[in-house]
Amino acid sequence: MASIQQGPNGPVLVLKESALQQKGKDAQQNNIAAAKLVAELVKTSLGPRGLDKMLVDSLGDVTITNDGATILKEIDVQHPAAKMMVEISKTVDNEVGDGTTSSVVFGGTLLAKAEELLKKDVHSSTIVDGYQIAAEKTLEIYSELSKKIKPDDKESLIKIATTSMQSKLISEDSGILSKVVVDAILSIVTKKGEDYFVDLENIKVEKKAGASIQDTQIVKGIVLDKEIVHSGMPTKIDGAHIALLNSALEIEKTEMSSEIRISDPTQMQMFLEEENRMLKTMVDKLHDIGVNVLICQKGIDDIAQHYLAKNGIMAVRRVKESDMIKLAKATGGRVITNLDDLSEKDLGSANLVHQKKVESDKWVFIEGCKNPQSVTMLIRGGSQRVIDEVDRSIHDSLMVVKDVIEKPEIVAGGGAPEAYAASQLKDWADNFDGREQLAIKKYAEALEVIPLTIAENAGMDPIDTMANLRAKQNQGRKWTGIDARNTKIADMLSIDVVEPVAVKEQIIKSATEAACMILRIDDVIAVSGGPG
Ligand code: ADP
Repeated sequence: MASIQQGPNGPVLVLKESALQQKGKDAQQNNIAAAKLVAELVKTSLGPRGLDKMLVDSLGDVTITNDGATILKEIDVQHPAAKMMVEISKTVDNEVGDGTTSSVVFGGTLLAKAEELLKKDVHSSTIVDGYQIAAEKTLEIYSELSKKIKPDDKESLIKIATTSMQSKLISEDSGILSKVVVDAILSIVTKKGEDYFVDLENIKVEKKAGASIQDTQIVKGIVLDKEIVHSGMPTKIDGAHIALLNSALEIEKTEMSSEIRISDPTQMQMFLEEENRMLKTMVDKLHDIGVNVLICQKGIDDIAQHYLAKNGIMAVRRVKESDMIKLAKATGGRVITNLDDLSEKDLGSANLVHQKKVESDKWVFIEGCKNPQSVTMLIRGGSQRVIDEVDRSIHDSLMVVKDVIEKPEIVAGGGAPEAYAASQLKDWADNFDGREQLAIKKYAEALEVIPLTIAENAGMDPIDTMANLRAKQNQGRKWTGIDARNTKIADMLSIDVVEPVAVKEQIIKSATEAACMILRIDDVIAVSGGPG
């Protein structure tokens, strides 16, 4: 479409004939329609009774998931406004790990409600202003509503992990898995002053198909998907003293190629013996300072392997650098480059290091570390597809537990806080005049989409359920929400459905931001080339 502007000397062609351009209401309607479609797509997967999506890629690979972020990451979204909705789920996923579906559903509903106002000729800037004021007020309401907990209160943390698993494939196994998640996090939490911090990098995840989900376990140490290098070495060591080496246990080759002229066979023998002697000295050094397990980032020479085995030292080679760092944190050892520098105080320790069969592979477990700053989560499940979904769900749970440890405030789930904030907002909106008030009320209506959808997906009548829920909350029972498992309304706190307030806040922030950004657009112009 060409864009023609009236200039002083007649019409001026601003955009070339073929440039794609949508202006004003057309652009707005199109963007809103696209964003709403994305929200509709994930809506049926919200809440514990939400359904899963099967995603099939061009090669026929299948992913089954109910995680909003994963669904949107995998599908090929073309429309620019739809892409912005996908961005919301990514931001929420990165910031807090959970609440991805909710944020997209809420964002889409904000736009649907805005559309109603646009049709009544309310200007989009007025809607944006109203939405932003409403978002701020909602955050205030959440903060008054939330309950403080102790960051190391294991029972509460388990409830939070369990809630995040409710809507996932692993909900049946949430009893065991939530304990594994909380155990893992409490092992690696650090305290600075009064505040607690969690670095999820310190939890190593290993996955292996074959057993049941319930066999998922936490190892207070590190699991390496590697075999012991030599069959003559011990396969089990109690009371391990571990050396961590990030260079090769080999005779270093010279940079230049050199030639040695040998005139009789004994010289050849001497040459080889010298190499042997050097390797033996290295192994003797390890033995002398009490090393019984050697973990090497690079290779280990065959002769060195022989001497290690002879000395009863277990060794593993070609371990990833990231695993070496985790091993140091788990065992309390130090990674060294030069064997000459190694001393007793550099050694890590573990109660048990052993090689174990995991399905058809042999893996080395470094277990029972005293104060491990790094641990391993060994995820099991019937098939690779199941394991991948378990991994995604466990990641979300780890994130919510981290969220609440770092900001120890919780709210009940099941749509209770959204319904509560909606009714508070509606009353509060009366303080405003005219059109802004309309926008705030629409914001409140949009918030109700969360309890409404959870109820709808559970097969409950949304209108009756919402009416009952509002009535109960108005009587002062502010934690009343949708008990989707038993298809009734209930006090969500008393049935242990709880979430970090950080997740709820992020949903509000990201969804409002995206909706307002889309509402502010009144021109979509196709430009050639990318940025830069
Ligand atoms: P999201 O990606 O937004 O986290 P989910 O599909 O995981 O979406 O659903 C999360 C919603 O489900 C939250 O609002 C949470 O409070 C709610 N929820 C979790 N467990 C229950 C339950 N047992 N009954 C009702 N709602 C629940």
